[in-house]
Amino acid sequence: MSDIDVKYAALGGAGGWLGPATIAELGAPDGIGHYRHYRSGSIYWSPASGAHEIHGRIRDRWAALGWERGLLHYPVTDETATPGGGGRYNHFQGGSVYWTPATDAHEVHGDIRGKWASLGWERSFLGYPLTDESTTPDGIGRYNHFQGGSIYWTPVLGAHEVHGAIRGKWSTLGWERSFLGYPTTDESTTPDGAGRYNHFQGGSIYWTPATGAHEVHGVIRNLWAGMGWERSFLGYPTSDELSTEDGLGRYSEFQHGSIYWSPATGALACRETMRLHIKCLTAPTRFSINQMISNMRLTYATAQIGIKYVSFEVLSLPALNDLDVGGCTMGSVTAEQTDLFSHRNFVSGNDVVAYFVRSTQPPFNGCASHPAGQPGAAVASGASAWTLAHEIGHVLGLAHVNNNNRLMTGNGTDNITNPPPDIVASESATMLASPSTI
Ligand SMILES: [Zn+2]
Repeated sequence: MSDIDVKYAALGGAGGWLGPATIAELGAPDGIGHYRHYRSGSIYWSPASGAHEIHGRIRDRWAALGWERGLLHYPVTDETATPGGGGRYNHFQGGSVYWTPATDAHEVHGDIRGKWASLGWERSFLGYPLTDESTTPDGIGRYNHFQGGSIYWTPVLGAHEVHGAIRGKWSTLGWERSFLGYPTTDESTTPDGAGRYNHFQGGSIYWTPATGAHEVHGVIRNLWAGMGWERSFLGYPTSDELSTEDGLGRYSEFQHGSIYWSPATGALACRETMRLHIKCLTAPTRFSINQMISNMRLTYATAQIGIKYVSFEVLSLPALNDLDVGGCTMGSVTAEQTDLFSHRNFVSGNDVVAYFVRSTQPPFNGCASHPAGQPGAAVASGASAWTLAHEIGHVLGLAHVNNNNRLMTGNGTDNITNPPPDIVASESATMLASPSTI
């Protein structure tokens, strides 16, 4: 009796589930082994692997991959029930095929199989494979998707798993073809124990139950890392990296601040945030609102203050469009200012509101005097690129200086000589102490 006959007899022979033979035992096309087909499966033998049966959907998958001449080569087990239950598998010389009724049969091999095995096979959070190992769209790497996540591999980086909300964020950014590239770690617990992360070639994705999953990369990530990652005063990212309104700067928001970057300033950590609302009666004519907000981000970041641009609302208040500001003295307001600033609508607490009007009467670029408890300023349509930042500077407690290098110059912000204008340390301290920066 051949080894194939011995295996067949052990499985019950013609009366067993394999049923009667349909062909004689033959040499395999690869010239190494032998095989015999039966009504309900096959037995394959080679000197190195011995004789093992293979049948059903696992046999179909193995056949589709090229039988013993495919990457899997010969079976080294019979089909076997998985320890996790609900599934079946054959191991092969070159990998494994796993099957469940829900997932069908898929092969897993090499370093990806090794990673899956190290995590606990189908009993891990990954569960069963949903795909064969496949080439990534960028042509460089390989992956298997599983019920509970994915394993990605490249020759340089090896195999790493990514799953859950972090995998979801990575997929929305474009998988390995995004700026993040491939994972360089498995999902890991953060040193502070509150979150999870994967590092990637081009950045990281951090997740906590409270903040969700957000990417952080480049020089912003470098600064955050240098500060101590999530254990810094910033905590975890609460946004992906965002573009400033003028497209020239970048910033990421964190639980307790933000990091701003521009070519002019490099990366700057902001330890407080000012929440800004725009209400527009007349749009400015010389510089757009978005340009003024971008300029404000630029200067305020040097004072460690980030801007959260919360809302924009159009107001139709023609009677207040040429706003009587009287002498524009802080702590003193006209009836028209009282009326205008009462239109805070949904704006809460210490949030700052900038009202864009056609003009002030008498004509100024803007005026920061506002009723108590309603922090904000009016900005006229002829305002300079720095008027918004300057007027809100007054709202946050700053006074004029006689220095055209500084944002708070009293000589008119059109006369600023060194854009972006300076905010000095004592002014930063005043702004950080304002109840409108948190
Ligand atoms: Zn002023």
